[in-house]
Amino acid sequence: MTHPLLDLPPLTADRFAAIERRVAALLDTEQDVVIAQGEALLPLEGCIRSGARPGSTALNVVTGPYGQTFGDWLRDCGTTVVDLEVPFHTAVTAGEIAGALERNPEIDFVSLVHAEAATGNTNPVAEIGEVVRAHGALFHLDAVASIGAEPVRPDAWGVDLCVIGAQKAMGGPAGVSAVSVSTRAWERFAANPAAPRRSYLSLLDWKERWIDGGRKALPHAPAQLEMLALEACLERIEAEGLDVLMARHASAAAATRAGVLALGGGLEPYVYDAKDAAPVATTLRTPAGVDASGLVAAALAADPSLPLAAGGGALAKEMVRVNHYGTDADREVVESSVAALGTALGRLTGAAVDVAGARRAVTEAWA
Ligand SMILES: *Cc1c(COP(=O)(O)O)cnc(C)c1O
Repeated sequence: MTHPLLDLPPLTADRFAAIERRVAALLDTEQDVVIAQGEALLPLEGCIRSGARPGSTALNVVTGPYGQTFGDWLRDCGTTVVDLEVPFHTAVTAGEIAGALERNPEIDFVSLVHAEAATGNTNPVAEIGEVVRAHGALFHLDAVASIGAEPVRPDAWGVDLCVIGAQKAMGGPAGVSAVSVSTRAWERFAANPAAPRRSYLSLLDWKERWIDGGRKALPHAPAQLEMLALEACLERIEAEGLDVLMARHASAAAATRAGVLALGGGLEPYVYDAKDAAPVATTLRTPAGVDASGLVAAALAADPSLPLAAGGGALAKEMVRVNHYGTDADREVVESSVAALGTALGRLTGAAVDVAGARRAVTEAWA
C-alpha cells in the first residue's frame, strides 16, 4: 500500500534550488540563501561558530532568552562577549548599540534577535543596521519570530547573516530553516580556522558543495517532508500576499493590546510601548499575586485550542503569552483569547473585568 507521506519520489536538486529562490524572494535579498536541514537553532549556531573568531570581541544584545543562548555559544567559541542587556518590557535602541560600539571599538561581530516571541518585544533593525555598518562589524540577526509578521530586509538593512524559520508567522514547518549570507560573511567564515568544516553545523560545506557547484547536486539527502511543507507554506504566503500576512499580524497585536486594556482586572501589556511590541505574539503581565501559569491553565480549561502559554522559566509567574501567529493571527482567535483570559481572571481573583468591552475593543482595533 502506498502512503502519501512515505512513498515519495526523491526531492530533486532543481526543486530544492527553486525553494531557495522563493525564500530569497521572501527576504528580498540578493545574498546566498542556504536552507538548513534542521530547526532554526542549527543555522543560528552555525553562523555564530563560523563568524565568531577566537580572540575577537562580539556584541551580544540580550532582549530575551535567545540572546542569552547566543552569548553562551559566542563565549564557547573563545570570543570576548560584551552583553548589552535590555529589560524584557522594552526594545534596544540604535543609540544604545552605538554607545556599546564606541566603548568597545574592537567589536567585529554583532548578534541581535529581531523579535522575541518569548518576551514579545521587537527591535528597530533598520536603524541598528546603519550603526553596525558604520562600525564595520559583521551583523547577525535572528529573524525567526519576525519573518512573516513584520518586514525583514537583510540587504536594505545591511544584515550579513539573517536566520529565519517557518514555524512562527509563516505558519510552516519547524524542521527546516534558512539563512541569507552576505559576501562579507562568506569571506569571514573562510578566513576563520575555527569555522565548522565537514560538520552538520558547517555553512561553508554548503557553499563549497552546493552553491559553488552551481546547485547541481545536494550534499546529502534533504529533509524531504519538511522541504515540501516549506514549499507549501511559501505558496500559501505568495497566494495571500506577504503584506496581507504582515498586516494580519499587526492587527492581531494591536487588537490583543486594545482588548487587554479594555478588559481591566489588572492584566496589562508586558511591553510598555506599542511600538516595541512584536507583531508575532503579545505578552501580558498578570496582576500582583496572580500566577501566570495558573491563569493560562484556567483559560485553556475553557478552550484548549487557544494559543495561550505562560512565559518560560521564572517568567511563568508573571507573564502570559498570546501566540497570535500563523493561522492564529485571526480576529476571532484574538477575541476568544482575551475573553477567556478575562473570564478566568475574574473567576480567580473576583476582580471586575469587562469581557464584553474587551471583545468590542478587539473588533474595533482589528479594523
Ligand atoms: C521561536 C524562535 C526560535 C526557534 O526556536 P524554537 O524554540 O524551536 O521555537 C528562534 N529564535 C527566536 C527569536 C524565536 O522566537
